[in-house]
Amino acid sequence: MRLDKFICKSTEYALIEALELIENRLLMVNGSVVLEASHQVHKNSVVALDGKILTPRPSRYFMLNKPVDTICSNVDEKYPSVLNFLDVERVSELHIAGRLDADTTGLVLVTDDGHWSFNLTSPGNRCEKVYRVLLSRPIAPDAAQRFAEGILLQGEARLTHPARLQIIDPYTVLLTLTEGRFHQVKRMFSGIGNRVKSLHRQQIGSLNLDVDEGHWRSLTPAEVDALS
Ligand code: URA
Repeated sequence: MRLDKFICKSTEYALIEALELIENRLLMVNGSVVLEASHQVHKNSVVALDGKILTPRPSRYFMLNKPVDTICSNVDEKYPSVLNFLDVERVSELHIAGRLDADTTGLVLVTDDGHWSFNLTSPGNRCEKVYRVLLSRPIAPDAAQRFAEGILLQGEARLTHPARLQIIDPYTVLLTLTEGRFHQVKRMFSGIGNRVKSLHRQQIGSLNLDVDEGHWRSLTPAEVDALS
């Protein structure tokens, strides 16, 4: 982590104040004064501010049940950010790991741990995400097979990774994906001549959504590890 970020994570100082402290030669890393804000601080680095050793606050991890007409962004735009639901301190330090569209509901993960969210959302991780999809037309009999084989989304050169389709009733299905391309679920159904009426993410990896709409809870250390 960068030194300036480390200071913010260990104190109540804002980023601009952290930069001033560094400029004023008040930061030592492993016994030497450091003047670069970008200096990388590692797990075992000893960082001292004006002679006092800094200990970063533990990272935070939350699940949140996103309602419709909210956005996965740090700022409000056409719709309010889902982060408005999180009545915790220092919300500005948090970010969303894996966005949903404004009209999609369900499981959103929020954290201040950039490594964790990067690993979780990186394409190589192949973390499973389960979506409950309400369709405007009955599901085609060959849909499960086409999704299992991968389909070519409009404007793309690579097939989608194999996806699992479970049919609940002709208009309701569960779709399990291991990637997260732009509007992927909607584009996959459009690719087989159907249309998504509503979309809800109910699971990421082993983690099932278990809070009501608009509500949130902290993840347990075991849940965090399971998604690492
Ligand atoms: N796929 C979509 O089309 N939209 C989402 O919000 C998530 C996955």
